[in-house]
Order: sequence, then C-alpha cells, then structure tokens
Amino acid sequence: MTHITASAPCSMHDPFVKSPSQRDPFKTAQKQLDEAAAIMKLDPAAHELLRWPLRELHVTLPVRMDNGSTRIFHGFRVQHNDSRGPNKGGIRFHPDETIDTVRALATWMTWKTALLDIPLGGGKGGVICDPKTMSDAELERLSRAYIRQVGRILGPDKDIPAPDVYTTPRIMAWMADEYSFMQGNNEFGVITGKPLALGGSAGRGDATARGGIYCVREAAAEIGMNLAGAETAIQGYGNAGSSAHKLAVELLCMKVIAVSDSKGGIYNPDGLDYKAVHAHKQKTGSVTGFSEATAITNEGLLELDVAVLFPAALESVITETNAANIRAKIIAELANGPTTPEADTILYNKGTHIIPDLLCNAGGVTVSWFEMVQNAYGYYWEKEEVHARLEKKMKTAFRSMYETAGKYHVHNRLAAYIVAVSRVAEAMKLRGWF
Ligand code: NAD
Repeated sequence: MTHITASAPCSMHDPFVKSPSQRDPFKTAQKQLDEAAAIMKLDPAAHELLRWPLRELHVTLPVRMDNGSTRIFHGFRVQHNDSRGPNKGGIRFHPDETIDTVRALATWMTWKTALLDIPLGGGKGGVICDPKTMSDAELERLSRAYIRQVGRILGPDKDIPAPDVYTTPRIMAWMADEYSFMQGNNEFGVITGKPLALGGSAGRGDATARGGIYCVREAAAEIGMNLAGAETAIQGYGNAGSSAHKLAVELLCMKVIAVSDSKGGIYNPDGLDYKAVHAHKQKTGSVTGFSEATAITNEGLLELDVAVLFPAALESVITETNAANIRAKIIAELANGPTTPEADTILYNKGTHIIPDLLCNAGGVTVSWFEMVQNAYGYYWEKEEVHARLEKKMKTAFRSMYETAGKYHVHNRLAAYIVAVSRVAEAMKLRGWF
C-alpha cells in the first residue's frame, strides 16, 4: 500500500480515530470479505490483497476563512482496487469523517462496481469539516484546496470522484473547475454528479434512490409482497432519502409513514406528503417540526412495523443491539454500511429480506458511469433513456445476486460479495497480480 501522508503539527481532530459509534466500518468491510472468501475458497494472496486499499493519500488543507483566519483541515483519498478500471467513489464532507470510514467506503465501491459489472474500481474521499457551519465562500475554498492536493491522483482514466454525504453538484462544479485549471483544459469527466450545464447526466439526481426502488420492486415480487399502500419508513432525508420518499410514492404507490434526519424524525400513520415535507425541510433545514406529524426518534423509526425500511443516512445504525427489534420485512440499504455483520446474522435468521448496500444504492454509481460515458462522447441522453438503462442494470445485478444466494444457500449480502469478489479476483488473476 502506498501511504503518502502530509500531517499537520496540531489538529482539532485526530483523523485516525474510529467513527463516533466506536464501530470501525473498515473492520466490518474486511469481515464481510473474509466471510465471502471462505465460502468461495478464494486464493489467499488475492484475499489478502483485497483486504487493503492499494493506495491512500492523506492531505492537510489550509483554508482562509471569512473572518481572515486560516483553518487547517484534514482530508483523504483512498483507492481500494482498480483492477477492473479507474477508481470511482464519492467525497464526503463530515465532522466525524475518519480514515477508516473512507477505507471502508472505498472497499465497498470496488464491490459495487463489480456487482453492477461496470468497468470501474473503488475509491472514496473525505474531508473532516462541518459544512453546516461554513459559508459558501469557505466551502468553495475548501473544495478547491482539496482538489489541488488530491488532483495528482485523480483523472478520467485514474480516479473519478462524485458527491456523497454533505457534498453537492455545486461542490462537484467547483472541483471540476479547479481540476480543469490544473490540467490547462476542460476535464469535466474527472468528476460526476455535476450540474447539467457542466456535463452532468439527466437522471443523476435521484439515481441512487431510483436504483433502490427498482430493487424493492424485484424483492417484493420474489417474496410475494404487494407494495401498493404498504407502509415504509426512511432514515435520512438528503439526496438518497428524500428521493426515496418521492419515488416510493410515485413508482410503487407506497405510504411513507416516517422520515428523519440528523435532528430527529416525524411520524404520521396516514402517510407523509412528499411535497409538503420537502418544502418544510427546504424552509427550516430539517424535517422536524413538520405540522402534520408527531415526533419520533431515529432509533424509534428503525423499529417501526413497516413493509420496507430505507436506512439512508450513515453507517452502523442497525447493530446487534437493535436488530432483534427491527420489524421491517424488507430493509433496502440506501446508505452505505448501515447494518453490522452481527445484525446481519440476527436479521437473516428472523427472515428479514435485506437488499444490501452494494446493490441497493448502486444506482448512483451506475448513472455516474453513464455520465462519464456521455462526457467522453460529448453526446447526452434523454432522462427516459437513462432510466431504462439503469433499470436494466439494476435488474441484472439483482438476478445475479439472487441466483448466487440460492446456489450457495447464503443471504443476499454474502451472495452479492461472492459475485463481486469473483469478478475482481478474475481481473487481478488475468493481470497477473496473483
Ligand atoms: P446527504 O448529505 O444528501 O443526506 C444525508 C442525510 O442524512 C441528511 O438528511 C442528514 O440530516 C441525515 N443524517 C445525518 N446524520 C444522521 C443521523 N445520525 N441520523 C439520521 N439522519 C442523519 O447524503 P446522501 O447523498 O443522501 O447519502 C446518504 C447515504 O447514502 C450515505 O450513506 C451515502 O454514502 C449513501 N449513498 C449516497 C449516494 C448518492 O448518490 N448520494 C450513492 C450511494 C450511497
């Protein structure tokens, strides 16, 4: 592993500490791989190689704040495996970001691109910061400073970032602009999730949720569940969660009875109107305080007796502590890593149908890949074409996971791992890496 570090003498945060929940998502990612490797009888060298990122860049970023002071931020870019193609994965801006979270997310991207059979690898980036307390000008300076540092390992043929938690199309535009300055020519293909006017793809905005909704439809058909009028709850109300609210109603005719964000949740057994909740969140910055609902905690929301639960916030929210209390029939993991391995076993034994993150939220990276293809050709598709191509990709991946689960008698997540790991191992073998 190439480990390039640039550490600051003093810092408010230790970037090497674990996530606040004290669960290490990277250990979770390694454990999930270990389980699949044992079942597949994966070559030991390939297994060890895949347990670690190939490359990491740690950066320290001085940023001029609006009050004239300079603040030092820490950031990372992790490239887990590029045997099947350039690394691909989002950038998070979050106060609790850690190197282990970024490592885990980069690893999961490798599996996700392989499961969807997209010719890309796995990467992820992050900056420890609290965007909610920063002005637009400060965020722009931070975004440009990050790209000036990590730009040397990025590029349309090397590593292509995208938005993730608390990063937006606007931030992607600043980053694409900074990278283009560094190259001396427009390089919009270096980043995806851009605004449409700068080479973004139609249909990228709700692609993550849309892909998850297609999976829920497939899973419900498998278990004979009627989704029309069925109740659902959504944890997290950002890009993934709020789009899931809209599309669950629009495409599946479901009833969304609870949603939440970092400030808390809201509940209405008669259903929450998407437009009204969205408008309230736009106005106040949170779903909490919505007049046509009562309050519910994030923990309480997860335990509601619903047909489908969408975790769409952060990792490690379903653990061995609350798994036994989860009553949802289907868990559609729009968030990355919301369920720990211990919780997985409890839920599997209870008969809960989990659509694992590797598949459920892969609509985002799939349409990001479409965006790269369109950037390369300078020719752009209609939204309907994007939706149709996405649906086909999601259904194909769902089928390969489902058939593998049947063949090996394992749960969906393990099946998804087996499909993905075998594809990556095949590429590494053909390249002579082991
Ligand atoms: P976002 O920044 O748009 O929204 C995050 C949401 O989570 C916000 O509503 C925030 O208030 C809420 N949240 C934060 N902490 C919370 C907590 N402790 N409890 C409850 N809610 C909390 O982010 P996003 O892009 O929607 O990403 C959400 C999840 O989906 C992440 O795990 C991300 O990695 C995953 N994901 C996103 C995409 C994408 O295309 N945006 C693609 C794949 C996976």
